[in-house]
Amino acid sequence: MHVREGDLMLAKPVGGYCRTSDADLADIRRAVKAGLLTPEEATEEERKGVLRQREDIESLSGGAPIKWYEDNNLSAFKRNVRRPDFENMVKDLKAGRISGILAYDIDRVYRQPRDLERVIDIYETSKETLVFKTLSGQNFDLTTSDGRFSARLFVNIANKSSEDTRRRVVRANVAKARKGKSHAMGHTFGWLASDPSELDPETAPIRRKAVEKHVAGDRIATIMKWLASENVINIATGKHYTWGGTKAMIHAPRNWGIRTYNEEIIYDDDNEIVMGDWEPLFPTLDTWHLVQALKTKGSTPTRESNVSYLLTAIARCGRCGGGLKGHPKWAKGARTPGYNYNCNKQRPEHCGALAIDGPKLDSLIQDLVWATVLRASEQKRVPETAEPWTGEAALKDVEEEIAELQELWKAKKVRAASYVTTLDDLNARKNELLADRAYHSVPAGTRSITEELLTNGWENLSIERQRIIVRKVLRAVIVHPAKGRGGRFDPARAEPVFLTA
Ligand SMILES: [Zn+2]
Repeated sequence: MHVREGDLMLAKPVGGYCRTSDADLADIRRAVKAGLLTPEEATEEERKGVLRQREDIESLSGGAPIKWYEDNNLSAFKRNVRRPDFENMVKDLKAGRISGILAYDIDRVYRQPRDLERVIDIYETSKETLVFKTLSGQNFDLTTSDGRFSARLFVNIANKSSEDTRRRVVRANVAKARKGKSHAMGHTFGWLASDPSELDPETAPIRRKAVEKHVAGDRIATIMKWLASENVINIATGKHYTWGGTKAMIHAPRNWGIRTYNEEIIYDDDNEIVMGDWEPLFPTLDTWHLVQALKTKGSTPTRESNVSYLLTAIARCGRCGGGLKGHPKWAKGARTPGYNYNCNKQRPEHCGALAIDGPKLDSLIQDLVWATVLRASEQKRVPETAEPWTGEAALKDVEEEIAELQELWKAKKVRAASYVTTLDDLNARKNELLADRAYHSVPAGTRSITEELLTNGWENLSIERQRIIVRKVLRAVIVHPAKGRGGRFDPARAEPVFLTA
């Protein structure tokens, strides 16, 4: 909407909102810390800044009376600080006491997207035409979808000005780094000591396998043990890999040839990930997206991370439906290698009146699951349980937003700081979606049934991987109550419930 001068010539005042920018506030606070300003002088500084804004904002009013709202944040600067005058202004706007908002810049008005959404609601439902103007000259007219789009795009930077600065510095350094030398420096496990840009034919397969094991479902701790059993030495420490070292090795972007700067992934002008000039372990980014997905989703539900029995919670009580839990058997005050699955007495909703011999149930179910796996792999068909991916539209949206933002940038319609931070946010969202897609597009069954699994067999798998595979085949194992008293193990008590009919 173009606001004609006349529109503002109303008896009703328009709201003028002033607040010192977070960046300026940060400068003032630094000066106080360094002893350059006393707290009183600092308050004075903030006030001066606000008065300068008032003069500028007056030029937007077209002569209409202005009702001023002013929040001073220096004394109470916190991320979630409430802004009393902002609240007053929203109230007045809603009640129709003011005809709109004028401000120096949009990031002064809205610190959080939810602030903006509250105001957008008012603009959308108001019967009068409200105005919204800033000195940036951009269209933030909240009565139009274009204006709302740009406003939303820019508001998410408002409470991030420090990150903004940090990122700008990173970008500047990155620009230098890009022109500079190769980043394949220093001896890294998997690459040659003599030439760190070339894979070491002896160690690269081990590093690649560590990543593949993780993607297939092994915990970091399990891979750490495996590396130690292969006697892999961490070049940096001269010892076996620790848990942290193992994790870092698996997550390292350099495995995929992705270049980073201060641990941030670098994007070029076309918004493509900047690749290094060393030989990557993986020729495509598919597994990288999977590893990203596993970072957030976890290879196994977290509650499983300490499960030490194959069928805990997978086996269910045939009386009450509760999950059975593995418990070691004790004899004469000592723990034996034997164990039972019991209905969990500690839970009030469980009956606690059912038990079955653990090793015998495990071996029964194991044989069944393994037979299913082999049959599936012979038929080149895996039990597929992956749900179809539903994020295509969201991904398309993000890609369009990125393109749109780049257009704005090329047309010099957006400030550098806004461009950079907004683009970073959109890229993060895009990567999240790509990770999610990778996670879904590989059928769950295929992730678990690997070449390695088929060669080494069930026995050599970690318990968590065995559990993942059991879950790919079975929804549950119902354990029915024993007929008669104690005695022999009765396989008929175990009723497997298959995932796919
Ligand atoms: Zn029970």
